[in-house]
Amino acid sequence: MLSENKVQAVSFNVSDSNYYVFATSKHTYGYNVPEDPEVICDALDASAPKSVRRARAKERAEAKLRRELREIAILKADLEEEKWQAKLAQHYYMWRSEVESSMSPTAPPLITFPQLPDEVCICEELTCKFEKEKDGGLTGCEHDLEEVLRASGKYSCDWLRKERLRWHPDQFSRKCDPKNCELLTKQATAMWTQFESLITNAGSAGRTQPQSPSSSSTQTPLPTSPTAAWRASPVKSPAGVTIHGFTAPRPAPSAIEGRVDGILSSAECLRAIVPIQDRFDAFLVCCFSHHPLVDALREEVARQPVLGIMEAALYASRMCGSRLGIVTTSERSAVNHELSIAGYGFGHYSAGCEASNISVLGLESQPEEVVRAGVVGAAKRLVEERGADAVCLGCAGMTGVREACEEALGTAERQVMVVDGVAVGVQFLTALVREGLGTAKGGAYRPAKAGREARKQDWY
Ligand SMILES: [Zn+2]
Repeated sequence: MLSENKVQAVSFNVSDSNYYVFATSKHTYGYNVPEDPEVICDALDASAPKSVRRARAKERAEAKLRRELREIAILKADLEEEKWQAKLAQHYYMWRSEVESSMSPTAPPLITFPQLPDEVCICEELTCKFEKEKDGGLTGCEHDLEEVLRASGKYSCDWLRKERLRWHPDQFSRKCDPKNCELLTKQATAMWTQFESLITNAGSAGRTQPQSPSSSSTQTPLPTSPTAAWRASPVKSPAGVTIHGFTAPRPAPSAIEGRVDGILSSAECLRAIVPIQDRFDAFLVCCFSHHPLVDALREEVARQPVLGIMEAALYASRMCGSRLGIVTTSERSAVNHELSIAGYGFGHYSAGCEASNISVLGLESQPEEVVRAGVVGAAKRLVEERGADAVCLGCAGMTGVREACEEALGTAERQVMVVDGVAVGVQFLTALVREGLGTAKGGAYRPAKAGREARKQDWY
């Protein structure tokens, strides 16, 4: 359409070599060379001075080259992916035939476990790496297993259920050589558990992408269910900081909804984290409660600062407002949190707690509107009925509705601050690490290790 309009004038903007202005009988246009449609460029080229045409031709050639390079890069990536998938399929069929032949009725008793081939055991998620390093564990994690099984082209809930059968510990133990039976059955049980988890994921629509943490500096958010919510709305990490997610391994409870859950998850976390503590610079316990793991880690880890998201949220609320309130999951946690607020020394500033009446796991599984209505409703009651001007989101799983709360409470107008303990916790810890601060070990956080050794306790 434009090319039909006769170009009346062309001017070359001397302050910006990419910017052109030209006028047709109807309109005046200004545009940037690399972004504009060919048709405008053609109209321009015909009437432009020589210098502009030369600059323009150069731009076009460069843009074409960039386009081609991009296309090549995409093709290359596709090719790599295709090659990898073909390789995975090959590994799958080889592994599968090894499993079948070693477990056939005529095969001799099993001496070694048919592990996944090393080439496909590449998941680097922290908990997975930890599991893989364990003596007598499986070489592959659930994510590696999923990749390989998907390469079969048959992946589905029903297919997984059938495939799982052969790993049933009772059935599997019958095929084992008695000398190695205990270890092999344990490995089969682990494989069974991985299948079980894949079946659950396949059934509940969708696979969770494993995070692939890289190295450098760190925070470790802990236990259990919040991790999934975390993945849905990732916290911005400060420049140079890598955040590694960690979920308390079984038999830790799947959510923390009371004191027993807190204690059981702490024990599992300690056993898993203390041996690998040197890999991290700080630890953030992502359970919004006075979780026993916070103080336990302060005692057990050598130098790193440790913070819980409840503490982090309370400190930030105190800094940003005069009366703080917490949106909790249940009435029961509201009662416990009021005690914790006093315990942390913020009792004077507390407007109290309001329950959203959505369980910890419900924050993940219930429809977003329900979660939003529950959390926003409780936040509004804190402000309107109790006079809070700083509202803490009382569960890591509420991160996703932070924006809705801010909107409802007028954070943009600076009326009420909404504090997400996970987000501020990461920032606080980063600041502490950069200031060279960590837990003081001369007082109440003196390590328990010396005591254990003194009384000759060699188990943990
Ligand atoms: Zn993994």
